[in-house]
Amino acid sequence: MALLDIQNLTVKFATQDGEVSAVSDVSLHVNKGECLGIVGESGSGKSQTFMAAMGLLAGNGKASGSVRFGDTELLTANERTLNTIRGNKLAMVFQDPMTSLTPHMRVGRQLTEVLQRHRGLDNAAARAAAIAMLARVQVPEPERRFQMYPHELSGGLRQRVVLAMGLLCGPELVIADEPTTALDVTVQALVLELIRELKDTQGTSFVLITHDLGVVAGLADRVAVMYAGRIVESGTVDEIFAAPKHPYTKGLLACTPRLDDPPTVLLETIPGQPPNLQNLPTGCSFHPRCVSAFEPCPVKRPLLVPAGNTLNACFLNHMQAAS
Ligand code: SF4
Repeated sequence: MALLDIQNLTVKFATQDGEVSAVSDVSLHVNKGECLGIVGESGSGKSQTFMAAMGLLAGNGKASGSVRFGDTELLTANERTLNTIRGNKLAMVFQDPMTSLTPHMRVGRQLTEVLQRHRGLDNAAARAAAIAMLARVQVPEPERRFQMYPHELSGGLRQRVVLAMGLLCGPELVIADEPTTALDVTVQALVLELIRELKDTQGTSFVLITHDLGVVAGLADRVAVMYAGRIVESGTVDEIFAAPKHPYTKGLLACTPRLDDPPTVLLETIPGQPPNLQNLPTGCSFHPRCVSAFEPCPVKRPLLVPAGNTLNACFLNHMQAAS
């Protein structure tokens, strides 16, 4: 059974200019001990899918569909149930550390409170466990940092503190939203190594939400590519990276530098901009930017269906799979 099972999730926001669909009919799952990468440009619905799953949508947001974590349906769970699961079995590490940290509270107190609330540790045990976790996520001088306020730390250190907070209770699933974006390359490598170690030795599952395909290639088992609130392609990392089929996935990969590229290589860009969610293009949302668009693309929306071993929402791939 999947640890997290999302079926037909749709997320809408009421705005002054009308309703905006941020996520449309998304279905995905994460198995125990698995790492699922979610990639796509800003505004593709990556973060909102999991904010909805965690019951953390803004007040004007509404989610429908189903999000099951083990036996619990999260979309209809009450606050008490959600609070017991969140931070304990299921943790989300946010892209902006200040979203998770309380500015007027020392880092140490914020970490120990989590352990006292969810694990019932006394002060001394919580302090020792928190400092050990800070060291594990590569915070230098963890005892000194433990005493500091968030604003006294650099952005990279704050991000590691938030990661430490997410990992403190040994959650079964960690949803990490751009967990390494603010980190320099060396620390990034160490944090990714920690994620790999937790996955391999403790069976922790991860969802990695990122625009960095290199991170996904190195860590994830499967990947889902999102565009304009929908999954447009998904499959194993090996399949998608070796032979991407959807024109958007191909574009994303062509924009990504590779270690074996010669220094003079010019990276491609995807023409145009991501669409305005309030005014999505008709048919395939990617058609105004797609170099392969043909007659049906502006008229009909391609469904996400099996094409070979992957799932794909593109008429071209559907035709090739059928031939
Ligand atoms: Fe491009 Fe058409 Fe495929 Fe959309 S359905 S990705 S526009 S070829």
